[in-house]
Formats: sequence, structure tokens, C-alpha cells
Amino acid sequence: MCGIFAYTGKGTKDAGKVLLHGLTALEYRGYDSAGIYTPESGSIKTPGAVAELKKKVPKKFNGKSGIAHLRWATHGEPTKINAHPHSDCQGELWIVHNGIIENFKELKEKLVKAGHTFVSESDTEVFAHLVEEHMKKTKDFEKAAIAALKEIRGTYGMAIQYKGEPEKLIAARMGSPIVLGVGKHEHFIASDASPILPHTKKVVFLEDGEIAVITPETHTVYKLEGSRVTRAPEEIEWSAEEAQKGGHEHFMLKEIMEGAEVIENTLRGRLIPEKGLAKLGGLEGVTKKLAKIDRIIIVACGTAYYAGLVGEYMLEEHAGIPVEVELGSEFRYRKPVINEKTIVLAISQSGETLDTLEAIREGKRRGALTLGIVNTVGSTIARETDAGVYNHAGPEIGVASTKAFVSQLVALALLTIFLGRQRGMSLVEGKKIAKELKALPAKVQKIFEEKGAIEKLARKYSGARDFLFIGRKYSYPVAFEGALKLKEISYIHAEGCGAGEMKHGPLAMIDEKFPTVALAPSDSVYEKVFSAIQQIKARRGPVIALATEGNREVEKIADDVLYIPETLEMLTPILSVIPLQLFAYYFARNKGYNVDRPRNLAKSVTVE
Ligand code: GLU
Repeated sequence: MCGIFAYTGKGTKDAGKVLLHGLTALEYRGYDSAGIYTPESGSIKTPGAVAELKKKVPKKFNGKSGIAHLRWATHGEPTKINAHPHSDCQGELWIVHNGIIENFKELKEKLVKAGHTFVSESDTEVFAHLVEEHMKKTKDFEKAAIAALKEIRGTYGMAIQYKGEPEKLIAARMGSPIVLGVGKHEHFIASDASPILPHTKKVVFLEDGEIAVITPETHTVYKLEGSRVTRAPEEIEWSAEEAQKGGHEHFMLKEIMEGAEVIENTLRGRLIPEKGLAKLGGLEGVTKKLAKIDRIIIVACGTAYYAGLVGEYMLEEHAGIPVEVELGSEFRYRKPVINEKTIVLAISQSGETLDTLEAIREGKRRGALTLGIVNTVGSTIARETDAGVYNHAGPEIGVASTKAFVSQLVALALLTIFLGRQRGMSLVEGKKIAKELKALPAKVQKIFEEKGAIEKLARKYSGARDFLFIGRKYSYPVAFEGALKLKEISYIHAEGCGAGEMKHGPLAMIDEKFPTVALAPSDSVYEKVFSAIQQIKARRGPVIALATEGNREVEKIADDVLYIPETLEMLTPILSVIPLQLFAYYFARNKGYNVDRPRNLAKSVTVE
């Protein structure tokens, strides 16, 4: 997820100023590097966020039109060279891009053979050269851009500028958002409406497979295959802040609602369903070593630790590798038994979590192969581990982690297929998991239809001071994660507990004022969880059950039931966590708390 912004006007406004100002509104979308280009003044790029770029752009950075970018790297570290805008060999064609060009390696090889010189490691640069190549043949900017778009696979929201026709900008959308701003003698292209709003409230939202050509006076929208699209601009009354949150009240809700998209992004280009295989580019350098390892220690903190626990179940059951999961803060002070056949796998959204980082360093000192599942490209954990898998979940702004957790589970499922297929996992099993992973985004979307019911439920239970979350097997870590979400943002007491553990203590707390959220999907331990629910009901404890669609039995005993679609047992947590995230969100929001910035907490914990 990057922020892109482009402008074309008649010269009454200075494009440099318009662009820099607009980028500030987009900063939530990416902040590892930034860049700007105008045909009159050239390009300036820098690592860091908008503030860094502002320091480097001289006062006289003139132009009537231009493009700008805030990057959240997916391919290539967040360096100056990898920052956008990217250009062709001649510095004539310039592009800012949000998304991933999946087939960039093949295209790059072809273009290098054709004589193009590449300067960066990013996937985006390939597109500038591709347009250049087509320009040689067509001599027409629009035709060349369309021909190039037809050759790329993956996701994009982009803006393209050609020095030879500086007034004209081209936008294209496939999977990443693009909004056009329609002003008086000026037009805009942006990732969301927030940078456009100070100039005009009239916008056109592009849809996937559409391109737009803007000049100061005109905007035209086409389908990629050529037909014209007529869509009248709509007037939006959102504030810039609402636009950043996609119309949602908080980033946390927006990020939960991105669940389906996040699953697609984590999976993108990484599954070969017909072969039941996972292709993980970040592990290529260590594939042989991975085939020999006999133990995995997952180190993580907070939400990522619970993702790790789900990973333990997945990897042991389906890849047949012994797994332990440890809190980074514990691991680093123990004397773990490790050898060169051990993997120490760090899971961290920010890639900077200090305790996890130190655990990795300790693992390395003791001779382990270190891996990372990390969301932030180029972060310290990403750099210091031997190999890894990036989440590609986009920046997460809400302090309480939601979409990153979903993405970590998907990455762990991919790792399970990858390592499993190196070992005993059959083709049939690999195919089954791959197929079901592909089906998850639509199932997540279905859960969102229950949003209203979950909100009502949060209201119904708003008087509770304590909550218990129970689950077993794959749902055991999800119970802890559900409790953590509630603690983090609503400041009430919530506890996770293994459903089988109730009778060993926690059952004593239960009375009519102490509600339990019971994770009871129709899996191999359903009956056991059902019996735990019966025990709670016998003590008059209110129960909210989370069950698989079609289960009527649980309705008879639980006070309330939330449903999730059916999936493979190992993938159930990816679905079951979402209603729990929504429940915590509404519960805290109804109390009027600042959900995105809970008291006493910080997003990335870089201290001990
Ligand atoms: N793939 C591009 C890059 O790494 C864009 C990243 C994104 O949109 O997140 O530069």
C-alpha cells in the first residue's frame, strides 16, 4: 500500500507545492520513502517520510503538473534508488505505483535483453521501461501505456507522466484504489480523496480494469480493452480524515474490513494450486537448508505470538516438524538448546519489535537458521534474518493489530505447504489447502455481512466488566487473541483459556455476570468445546458462541451465536478471529475510547 498523488493544472498553482501538501494527507499509506517529479524541475527522492522530502525539495521546484509518491516497500529495500517516481532509460516516462507487478522478473529479463538499463530493485521500474519499449513502436503515449498495462500481471494503482506531453497524465487501476479529482482548470489522481479535498469535492472513483486520461480541462475514463466509460463525478462531503479511513470511523475498523484484500495480497503470486505448492521467493536462497531442518522455534510478542501458536498447530500437523513457540522476551533470557538444524522464526508486523529481534540475534549466535515473517520491508528483523516471507499487508495504523494477524496466519499456512511438501505432505493435501486458501477472501467478505449483528451484541454486553474467551486446538490461540483485543482497546479484564482447562480453575469465576465467548467451530474438537459450554451454562454464565454456519445445536444452549463459513480446520482461525476483532472494536467504540490509540500502548515496541 503506497500513496500516490498527481496533478495537472494551468499554472495558477505550483504543482510542487500542491503535490507536497497532498502527500502529507496520504502519509498513513506509506512512509518509508518519498519522491516527486515535475517535467519542469525533474525528480527528487529520499528515504523517510514527507518531512524528509520537504527538506530536500527547494523552494523553486516549479511546474504545472507532476506526480508524487509515498512508498511502503514490497520489492526492494526503502532506499533512495528504490523510491518512486521511477523512470525509463531516457528520463522521459515517469511512474508512481501502488501494488505489485507479479511478472516483473520475466519482463525485466526481456527488457534487459532489449537493451534497457535498470537502476533499482523495485518491481515498478519495469513498467516505465515497458512503456518506453512500446513508445518506440507506437510513438503514442496513450497507446504505449495501454499496451504496457496489458502485459503486466498483479495489482496496480498508478499515475504515468510523459515529459513530451506534460499536461497529460494517465491513471490506471487494478486492485489498488484510484480516485480522480475534477477541479476548475485542474485535475488530480490520488490513492484516496484526502489530498484532493482542499481543491475540489468532485471526484470519480476508478474501478478495476479502468484507465483515465486527465489534462487540466478534461478527464476521460476507458476500459483497458478500449470501450469508453461514462461516470459522472460525485460530490463527496467527507473530511480529509474520513477519506483516509475510507469512510470508516477508525483505522482499526478500516483495517479489519481490509481482511479479504489482505489475504489476497499475502497469497499473491505465491500459490501453485494445481501442483499443491507454495512459491516463496524470500526462501529461495535457503531451500536446501530448509529441507534438512528438524525443529522450529517461533519467537514473537503480543498478537504475533498468538499467530505463532496457530502456526505451531499447522506446521506440526501438516508439515510434521516439531515446533515450539516462545515469547521473544522469555527466549532471549533462557539458554535454549539450538543447533544448525533448528529454525528460529520471528513473527513481527513492524520488524522492529525489540524482544523478538534480540531473540533472533540470540538464535543466530547459537547457530540456528533464522527466518522472519515480517510486514515492513527493510526493517531490522527483515535485514538480520537469513531469509523470510513478507506479509504485504500494507501499513497498519491502528495500535491493536488486526489485518497483520490475518496476514501472519496466511503466511504461516503458506510456509506449512512449502515445508510440508518438502516432506510428507501429499499432492492431494497440498492442493486441498491451496484451494481453500484461495476461497478465504470471499468467506471473509461473508463475515462482514454480520457486522451489524456483532455491533448489537457488543452493545448488549456493554455492562460486563470481565470476559472469558475459550477455544481448543486451532481455536485455542484465537481465544487468547480475542481476549487481547478487548483488553487493549476497551481496558476491561478479558482472559483467554483453553476450553479443556475450565474445570482446572477458571470455572470458579463463572456466574451470571461473567460472559464467555466460546469458539466452537465444527472441527475435530467441537464436542469437547460444546461440553465446556454446557458446564458454563450449568453455572448460569452467559455464552456467546462462535460456530460454523449450519450448526443449529449450539443455538439451543448459547445465549448468542455468531457464525463463520466452513473451511479447513487449520484455516479456521483466519475466519474466526474476524468477528472477535469486530466485537472488541464495537465494544470499545461504544465506550467512547480512542480505539486507534489505546492508552499506555505504542504501535511498534522498540524498547524492552
Ligand atoms: N511494489 C512497489 C514497490 O515496492 C509498490 C509498493 C506498494 O504499493 O506497497 O515499490
